[in-house]
Amino acid sequence: MAKKPWVDKDQCISCGICENNCPQVFRLDSHGKSECYDPDGAPEEVIQSMAIDLCPVSCIMWAE
Ligand code: SF4
Repeated sequence: MAKKPWVDKDQCISCGICENNCPQVFRLDSHGKSECYDPDGAPEEVIQSMAIDLCPVSCIMWAE
């Protein structure tokens, strides 16, 4: 099964980097917290380098 990104919303500081860089995967919910709405919206390498690696509080993780 493919890996899917998962956001720990309790840690998210609503900076918007993941949404800006991978809008086809992440969006901010009504509380301003990021959520992964389409885990297949971008290749794993893009999600890793453009969102996971850049999240200032490292709250995006891979879930199997
Ligand atoms: S990059 Fe991290 S802290 Fe910023 S909105 Fe996305 S999940 Fe939240």
